Amino acid sequence: MKEVILCKYGEIVLKGNNRNSFEAILLKEVRRRASEVGEYTIWNMQSTVYIEPDTDEAQAMLDEVYDRMKKIFGFVGVARAAVCEKELGAIIETAKAYLPDKLAGYASFRCEAKRSDKRFPMASPELAGEVGGAVLSVMPRLKVDLKNPDITVRVEIRDRGAYIHAGQENGAGGMPYGSAGRGLLLLSGGIDSPVAGFMMMKRGLYLEAIHFESFPYTSEAARDKVLTLASELCAYSGRMRVHVISLTKIQEALRDNCEEDYFTLLLRRFMMRLATRLAEQSRLEALVTGESLGQVASQTLKAMHVTEDAAGIPIFRPCIGMDKEEIIRISRRIGTFDTSILPYEDCCTVFTPRHPRTQPELEKVLEQEALVDVTALEEEAWNSRYLRTVRFGDIGY
Ligand code: ATP
Ligand code: MG
Repeated sequence: MKEVILCKYGEIVLKGNNRNSFEAILLKEVRRRASEVGEYTIWNMQSTVYIEPDTDEAQAMLDEVYDRMKKIFGFVGVARAAVCEKELGAIIETAKAYLPDKLAGYASFRCEAKRSDKRFPMASPELAGEVGGAVLSVMPRLKVDLKNPDITVRVEIRDRGAYIHAGQENGAGGMPYGSAGRGLLLLSGGIDSPVAGFMMMKRGLYLEAIHFESFPYTSEAARDKVLTLASELCAYSGRMRVHVISLTKIQEALRDNCEEDYFTLLLRRFMMRLATRLAEQSRLEALVTGESLGQVASQTLKAMHVTEDAAGIPIFRPCIGMDKEEIIRISRRIGTFDTSILPYEDCCTVFTPRHPRTQPELEKVLEQEALVDVTALEEEAWNSRYLRTVRFGDIGY
């Protein structure tokens, strides 16, 4: 029996003139991900992308392709379906052979039919009744429940064949990755920033990442952990460019010249300037951080104002209104949590002030900043930058 995967478009069906460009991004992504697994014929019709195996090997790898499709932003539903001739006898035989596995463990079902090929010589309700009857003939203990079934069987008569499936699962939702512009994620080794990256990717923002290290105060293991986090995000994006910049000299200069209470704020302003510079050079138009209001001293309203003042482009903070618990839940779901909690130091935890300012005045911060040579320090940090490109599966450097 031949099995295929159906991926259903989400929000993009509401788009008018741009819809084609969204569809093109999605199709390209489906092709890329499927072709890494095997040979598949892929096409797009009626708000659905079809993936059909060309070979037995490709058929055998359908589970892997299915998992990959569930992680593409822009699809709301993903289903596996059996395909057969558009002929009642074949449909019934296929339903009897294919559905028992899918319906095992459910108490009630309903069957729906849809004909987009109206030449099929039977009305949809009649076809649904026939297929429902066929299911009952092989699973007599199953109950039909039209109002509130545990699972719905669908028979779709489409252009290239009849498709029978049960149990469509949710897709990743959101908008096609890359359809909403380009951003730069400030990626630390913590729990919040990978989640922030995921949230913005889901809205279609293409992301590169920047990580600030402070060698030898931070270790290579800490940097590798961040690369691992980036590769975990690649389950959604495909691949990611990660820029790394060293803040060592800046941190030493701040320690030697400025009041301790201001270390973190001054450091964060350097991060913003460097991130803005990198963004401009790489044609990225927004910064993304994992900040959440009030979570730590540097994330009070006043502190964020002081930090933001040093950035030259918009900052997106998708976690701003989330509790730590909510952020952790997402982090577990997207698969970054276990890496995030590995116990490595971050540059923000080097020379941490004992009493960080929670209500800083910008003027006072600027006075402190004037005690170091901002331009020279920034230039030196800028020249330390290097680039790594990571892919999904590049785990454990
Ligand atoms: P996270 O869990 O994301 O590390 P956090 O709660 O530890 O966040 P902070 O350390 O104050 O909070 O950092 C706030 C945000 O600043 C992070 O979410 C991240 O976007 C950015 N950031 C912090 N440290 C770094 C770093 N070393 N490199 C790049 N970005 C960083
Ligand atoms: Mg952190």
